[in-house]
Amino acid sequence: MSIKHTVSILPGDGIGPEIMEAVQQIIKAARVNITWEECVAGKKAFEKGITSGVPEKTIASIAKNGVAIKGPLETPIGYGDRSANVTLRKLFETYGNIRPAKEIPGLKTAFSGRNINLLIVRENIEDLYAGIEYHQTPSAAESIKLITKHGCEKISRLAFELALSSGRKKVHCATKANIMKFTEGMFKHVFEEVSKDYPNIESNHIIIDNCAHQLVVNPEQFEIIVTSNLNGDILSDLASGLIGGLGVAPSANIGDKVSIFESVHGSAPDIAGKNLANPTALLLSACLMLRHLKEFKAAQMIEEALVYTLQEGKYLTADLTKEKIIIPTTTTKITQRIIENFGKKPANYLYGNFKNLNLPIKNSLDSKGEVLTPIGADVFIQYTGNVEDLASKLYSPHSDFELKSISCRGMQVWPKIPYAQVELMDLLCCHFLTKSKMTKKDLRSKLLELLAKESKNLPWMHIELVQKY
Ligand code: NAP
Repeated sequence: MSIKHTVSILPGDGIGPEIMEAVQQIIKAARVNITWEECVAGKKAFEKGITSGVPEKTIASIAKNGVAIKGPLETPIGYGDRSANVTLRKLFETYGNIRPAKEIPGLKTAFSGRNINLLIVRENIEDLYAGIEYHQTPSAAESIKLITKHGCEKISRLAFELALSSGRKKVHCATKANIMKFTEGMFKHVFEEVSKDYPNIESNHIIIDNCAHQLVVNPEQFEIIVTSNLNGDILSDLASGLIGGLGVAPSANIGDKVSIFESVHGSAPDIAGKNLANPTALLLSACLMLRHLKEFKAAQMIEEALVYTLQEGKYLTADLTKEKIIIPTTTTKITQRIIENFGKKPANYLYGNFKNLNLPIKNSLDSKGEVLTPIGADVFIQYTGNVEDLASKLYSPHSDFELKSISCRGMQVWPKIPYAQVELMDLLCCHFLTKSKMTKKDLRSKLLELLAKESKNLPWMHIELVQKY
């Protein structure tokens, strides 16, 4: 028996309890010494009126144990006010979402034989996923893409540490820095800075759309891809598709103090309670958890027995037998078979060379006293009149500000660009620059004076200070 661990276990909804039971049986048979602390979350919590979907007792258990494994949680439509999954992610700042996509020889996919073996490392907290959204006008809504140096550094370091702990030699950073120069640009810049601390790991930057293309035409070139939240959400589902789909896709949510392991798929309510669910994705997630707990031998034995079982071809659940003329197996039968296959080595399957993962503790790139120089303000207004009229009303030789341009959805509509055919919406942005150098404090108070004086012409929706880096 190994050393003793205590893990919070959230069986979840739909097929969750069945596949979790399978995972517990397999881990017990592998003689890993885990005390499971069973917790409620998801549907049962929502039904009790807990609007976050996560009871306090569950939160306390996860906070105490630092490690949790969870089944899929339903996001009920019509009650509860948010997703229990998102609640958990935010509560414990699990900033790194790791999704391996490794070919399972024996499972036929369009990419079989290509030896795909990559990790998508997705920033899990920031970006458009923070859900900072506003209605601006009846016809315009806005979502704020917030990215911090701190967040970029943590996820970049985690990607390099994962390379070291999993014997990989190359990390790609995928961004849209060519278009979103400040946000995605910061991600790229920080990644490049962090890469200097890992001279033995090859680092590359790739534009996200090219990355998606390359993942389909030449996926075997990638070992680790680190990326921001929304990019990672899309790329990781794409990567799951390369190796056989959501039924075999595991994931880990890594935080400084808490890590939560889960399958990528949902609660599959259509097959719940029928003994038909495939436990593979959750079992592979459990293998990630076992390595996190430094139970390397057990993780290897379980993963190899699982792959061996899938290769046997006779123990495939219905989701994996769609195009074959074989009778699908049940959740309980594949579970039993995996245990029987402990110690067997699957063909053509190179198990990784795993070592301890050192969670990054260094954050050296925070702003370090840097200051931004204020140079003006962008005032977003709800306006449907004539743009030339607006510009002339806002012209004032005695003002501290000069109106430089008016734009709609990021495109300049004043001064008019010859031949441009920009459609006008009811949300415009008036771009003001200060006529002389001022402090941030002065700029704020003078801007308030301008907004009060021009309240009729500037029915503002939101205001951004414009600063030079
Ligand atoms: P889903 O639960 O992943 O199911 C889609 C389909 O995929 C199922 O109907 C089933 O299709 C197949 N499938 C998925 N996992 C399987 C497994 N382990 N074994 C066998 N077949 C499997 O996606 P969904 O229907 O969009 O979502 C259902 C609920 O799950 C929703 O409430 C959603 O919010 C929640 N959800 C939770 C998580 C999470 O907790 N992380 C993630 C995604 C969705 P066939 O029977 O047709 O093969």
